[in-house]
Amino acid sequence: MTQSSRIPLDSTVSASIDPKLDLNWQDDALDLSAGYGMQTIATRAGHHRTDEGEHSEAIFTTSSYVYESAADAAAHFDGSKKGNVYSRHTNPSVRTFERRLAALEGGERAVATASGMGAILTMCLAYLKAGDHLLAAKQLFGSSVGLFNTYFVKYGVEVSYVDCFDNDAWAAAVRDNTRVIYCESPSNPLGQIADLSFLSQLARDNGALFIVDNCFATPAIQKPLDLGADIVIHSATKYIDGQGRVLGGALVGSEKLMQEAFTVVRSGGISMSPFNAWVFTKGLETLTLRMKAHCENANKVAQYLSEHPKVSRVHFSGLGDHLAHELARRQHYRKDCFGAIMGFEVASDNLSDKQAAWQVIDSTRMISITNNLGDVKTTLTHPSTTTHFRLSPEDRLAAGVTEGLIRLSVGLEDVEDIIQDLARGLNSL
Ligand SMILES: *Cc1c(COP(=O)(O)O)cnc(C)c1O
Repeated sequence: MTQSSRIPLDSTVSASIDPKLDLNWQDDALDLSAGYGMQTIATRAGHHRTDEGEHSEAIFTTSSYVYESAADAAAHFDGSKKGNVYSRHTNPSVRTFERRLAALEGGERAVATASGMGAILTMCLAYLKAGDHLLAAKQLFGSSVGLFNTYFVKYGVEVSYVDCFDNDAWAAAVRDNTRVIYCESPSNPLGQIADLSFLSQLARDNGALFIVDNCFATPAIQKPLDLGADIVIHSATKYIDGQGRVLGGALVGSEKLMQEAFTVVRSGGISMSPFNAWVFTKGLETLTLRMKAHCENANKVAQYLSEHPKVSRVHFSGLGDHLAHELARRQHYRKDCFGAIMGFEVASDNLSDKQAAWQVIDSTRMISITNNLGDVKTTLTHPSTTTHFRLSPEDRLAAGVTEGLIRLSVGLEDVEDIIQDLARGLNSL
């Protein structure tokens, strides 16, 4: 399948995913070649009914599968017959999730993993080897930086970082051996925006893969593959579940690239559990609706924070004066959505920045203090002492994580209640 057959920006599907490439799977509920809208894909794509005729997606909690005969088993192993062999390799519940997510992102295929970090590890194992260079944004999820700097450097991969919003810096940092260009947009925790079309072109010009962690936007807001990215990565743990229940991740891209990722997942056992896959499948059904509501709440909360005297800075591309506001509008196909995660910095005359941030967090009553995000429940995090604690002070500052920074993931409670709780915190300063 070519790029032109990806889901176009008007978010109807023109793509047909060839079931022959994908075991013996037939989506009996939805023929994607017929051209459906996002919400229809979200509710129906990838569903394969059993002979029981169940309406809703079943959970296949089985580790292995039986064969009709010894010869049938042998045929499954020599590849002459395609089908399930073992759930570390394939599982129908996982397959439903993969097919639904791939259809939503407009990719040929998805490969599910045990967690978001499992997807990022898979990326490294599948596409990088000793002597290659990984060029990444400075503004990344803390564990991603930890994985690159601790393990990939150990195995001989060169890693370097540039500011995600600085196109000149990206271009100057490309080396002859650059194999992967990697970013998040919006980034964690500051919601900075990378120019995905520019980076796609830069990667193409230099024979590298461009890989985007689309966790904060989700395909309900932004489809990096349509902007030229080769692979999208997800922590499904966040908005795809949306209700903070289970861990999972995924990669989405071309059949060829996903075949490499699939081999890593199946060999390394980074596979998603069937139960988690079922939770994510059901999560995808409401993703578009939830994201719209998350973003509406977030736009109002950001406005409130930007006007509060104790808030020195709000990091959120939805605000008109944000440096990347226009770029975000351009590359998010859902125009008034900028995600629902923002950073804000607080300061007080008689407290250190860290004490001020902690006091604001501790003076709220409803909002959860947790490191998770992308949940129906609003959450507050102090990144410099939690999610980004393991980074060196220099790496922390490079990622823009100051002591006074608070990360807010705006949930689906009534927005007046969210604002009132934040007011309780801020007015304590
Ligand atoms: C949480 C997160 C991850 C890691 O995902 P897990 O499911 O926790 O392993 C990766 N990228 C981003 C942007 C995240 O927020």
